[in-house]
Amino acid sequence: MYDYDFFVIGAGSGGVRASRMAATYGAKVGLCEDYRVGGTCVIRGCVPKKLFVYASEFSSHFRDAMGFGWSQASHNFDWSTLIANKDKEIDRLEGLYGQNLENHNVEIIQARGKLIDAHTIELTSENSTRKITADKILISTGAWPSMPNVPGIEHAISSNEAFQLEKLPKRITVVGGGYIAVEFAGIFNGLGAQTSLLYRGEEILRGFDLEVRAKLRDEMIKKGVDVRINTNVIGIIKNGDEYILKLTDGNEMATDLVMYATGRKANTANMGLEDLGVKLKGNGEIIVDEYYKSSVDNIFAVGDVTGGMQLTPIAIKEGAALAATQFNDTPTFVNYDHIPTAIFSQPPIGTVGLSEEDAIEQYGDDLKVYRSEYKSMKFTLSGRDERSLIKMLVDGKTDKVVGAHMIGPDSAEIIQGIAIALKCGATKAQFDDTVAVHPSSAEEFVLMK
Ligand code: NDP
Repeated sequence: MYDYDFFVIGAGSGGVRASRMAATYGAKVGLCEDYRVGGTCVIRGCVPKKLFVYASEFSSHFRDAMGFGWSQASHNFDWSTLIANKDKEIDRLEGLYGQNLENHNVEIIQARGKLIDAHTIELTSENSTRKITADKILISTGAWPSMPNVPGIEHAISSNEAFQLEKLPKRITVVGGGYIAVEFAGIFNGLGAQTSLLYRGEEILRGFDLEVRAKLRDEMIKKGVDVRINTNVIGIIKNGDEYILKLTDGNEMATDLVMYATGRKANTANMGLEDLGVKLKGNGEIIVDEYYKSSVDNIFAVGDVTGGMQLTPIAIKEGAALAATQFNDTPTFVNYDHIPTAIFSQPPIGTVGLSEEDAIEQYGDDLKVYRSEYKSMKFTLSGRDERSLIKMLVDGKTDKVVGAHMIGPDSAEIIQGIAIALKCGATKAQFDDTVAVHPSSAEEFVLMK
């Protein structure tokens, strides 16, 4: 007999969902977490990030308002108020998550878990170490910011620390060109910091539709972000209160804060996994089969720790699928087709399906590209110099829509509905047959000729 039917290490999106669902199916479930219940998404990711995005958008909204007859609103921003209110909301959400687990009889243990053998976990907290046993074990420990080995890297922060800065520095430099880098560059810029974004490649947001990537860079530059492509940092030197960045192009730049957003690495170190025969990829991610089982029969993994798309809804779906498979006799796996995603850059991006570049590779001459570039109605009076772009990619042979992309206000909200249509295999003719919602930006999706 084991202490638990199911023991989960890591209370992030995947672990919380898997433990709650397993308990619902009747399993005796324990969960350990060495930091805070909620994981990256709730504590230092999606949720506080989105709150920061809202905060930073007000500067543009205030300017927009003047075109509608409002006189200049206050431009005084207080960073400590934002942090305090954000912290209060995160505390509230953490409490809800914990309460919800307890309501489902999941035992939450504040400790760090390490595997001793395939059924034994050592739990270490501040003042004690003990061992527990479990029939099935889930590793849902997520990922952690990965920083390159650049001289002076100890002076740089990651997004983790950005959520707790004591004050907003005057000049901030963000290194990287992915989700986190572009989102935080928009946040810092909107809040009034002089912001630079340094990206090592030809165009930010590798993997997304090229035209959308270029459009975001243009719009960010228009908003005042100093975006430099083909530029990386080769050294960071502390110089009094500021930092001097030595760049690959031979230049130097001074800044007050350097934030790296250069990807995230699976949290699998020092967990005893390799000793047990749990196979890891070279970068530490746990290798799992389609039902999230590792190379050891009773040990499973879901979410960021397995690599794949590091997105909260994916971890949640994987956690639920695992619980259904193991504790409800319903083999379930996640369908990874047509995963929509949004980047909360400014302007935001919503996307689902293939980029134009990938679609050309797959459909060649059969590919039809529809695009619409326009100024949002709101910006006609506000005078904001920002244009939106919507693209639809259609397989000419079947008329199926194989990709949809939007950059502009409300993209994240709009793309969710479009993703349902793509998931259902919608054709361009069906989009055309749909009556427009007028006046809106979303209507562009059904009016493209
Ligand atoms: P990403 O993988 O999105 O981007 C990493 C960036 O860092 C890339 O531009 C990459 O360049 C660059 N980079 C990598 N290594 C180096 C290096 N040694 N020197 C300089 N640049 C480097 O990672 P993020 O950290 O932005 O985010 C992690 C994940 O979190 C995302 O992939 C996403 O899945 C998730 N996330 C999702 C969000 C959302 O849904 N809105 C928001 C935030 C995060 P290159 O392209 O050349 O490799």
